[in-house]
Amino acid sequence: MRKGSLLPPRAGREDRFKEACGVVGIYGHPEAANLAYLGLYALQHRGQESAGIVSCNGEGLLVHRGMGLVADVFTEEVLRKMAGPSAIGHVRYSTSGASLLRNAQPFVVGYRGGGLALAHNGNLVNAHLLRRELEARGALFQSTMDTEVIVHLVASAPGPSLMDRLVQALARVKGSYSLVVLTERALLAARDPQGFRPLVLGKRGDAYVIASETCALDLIEAETIREVEPGEVLQVDHRGLTGFKAFKGPRRQCIFELIYFARPDSIIFGRNVYQTRKALGRELAREQPVDADMVIPLPDSGVPAAIGYAQESGIPFEMGMIRNHYVGRTFIEPEQSIRHFGVKVKLNPAKDFFRGKRVVVVDDSIVRGTTSRKILNMLRQAGAKEIHQRISSPPTVGPCFYGIDTPTREELIAFSYSVEQIRDFIGADSLGYLSVEGMRRAVKEEDREFCTACFTNEYPVEVPEERPVRQLALFQEM
Ligand code: AMP
Repeated sequence: MRKGSLLPPRAGREDRFKEACGVVGIYGHPEAANLAYLGLYALQHRGQESAGIVSCNGEGLLVHRGMGLVADVFTEEVLRKMAGPSAIGHVRYSTSGASLLRNAQPFVVGYRGGGLALAHNGNLVNAHLLRRELEARGALFQSTMDTEVIVHLVASAPGPSLMDRLVQALARVKGSYSLVVLTERALLAARDPQGFRPLVLGKRGDAYVIASETCALDLIEAETIREVEPGEVLQVDHRGLTGFKAFKGPRRQCIFELIYFARPDSIIFGRNVYQTRKALGRELAREQPVDADMVIPLPDSGVPAAIGYAQESGIPFEMGMIRNHYVGRTFIEPEQSIRHFGVKVKLNPAKDFFRGKRVVVVDDSIVRGTTSRKILNMLRQAGAKEIHQRISSPPTVGPCFYGIDTPTREELIAFSYSVEQIRDFIGADSLGYLSVEGMRRAVKEEDREFCTACFTNEYPVEVPEERPVRQLALFQEM
């Protein structure tokens, strides 16, 4: 097989528009916007493209959104002006596509004489159908976000309270959503019936906190109370916390959150993410053993699984590949091309460390295969004698329609090629993936509670065929 033929096409990713994000909500604290800011800071890994906070000062909603990282978007002065007892916030993932300020969240509209803000983590599979229907009834859309569909459905639903109208709106959408809503009077939160994306409820003193992951609660010293249940809708207002389970399962939480996406210091889906990743590594060592001198991770995401692999196999754990933690999203590329420049900026092998060594390299996943290929090449140049790639998840064979940014099926190397072909492409002496059964064992799955579509092609919520992968920008902002 010609190696070059495996290089996946770049087109496609740029055209896609997905909503892998992080959300936070605070009610009943005088520094709500500051706490939301810190919560978003802890959730930065869930989205680096844009950040936004909407707070309420008791009279109206105050909005600040911008492109970039949380710390760059907000200044002390902005946060001071946003003082008030409640706030919601959002970080949006870096997916090329429609990366416009207009698509930054929270989404805010005028609503029944006041304001309504909504921040959404997830991906609705029927948004395009609902959008067509709403547009036919005269709705005017400002953005290309799925989130705006929910807002229009809320606005047009009958019902005595916002909670009623939100439940009616959510009854019509399909797919994944973990969301927070803010008005002058209340903070609401909802999670889809499958519970694809995590969402937790916490308390700091008398204030209620909602966040995508517990690491956000830790930073603001809020106590974790429990997860928002799949299908549950909650409301916090001056009377306190109310809520109910509006929609029934089946529970299908995203297994990839545990494998890669969530922060390892979080507890999500009732699991300690760090321990789970170590368990995936241990299971991998049992299923895919190899004789070697050292186990190294691909930092940072591969670290816990590599520790698990090392502990189970008895092979020493080393770092070896050193990461530059200050890599920004933009750096100046030299005009004369440097081979593998992109990956070298981020990772570099420790000098003379790998010479003559047999190395097990543990990573959480291979998507296109281009990262592994470059890293393994660097290790080879650094003198490694044998390179054994081990992956703490099964081959990624299906795209995600529920909010993780994965490429189209054709771009997933494992969809089109065998393990042996992938091994050849990345330049490893051996390649071993974790099995689907091994993965289920490691995460201690009960009753098929996880969505494993990216590994099994079994999609728990049907995806309408005509779902467009490309969403056109509505108009161009200069
Ligand atoms: P590649 O095989 O070159 O497409 O990239 C695989 C690498 O990307 C692995 O090191 C993963 O940790 C990381 N990765 C996997 N899924 C994602 C995702 N959805 N977003 C960003 N990085 C990812």
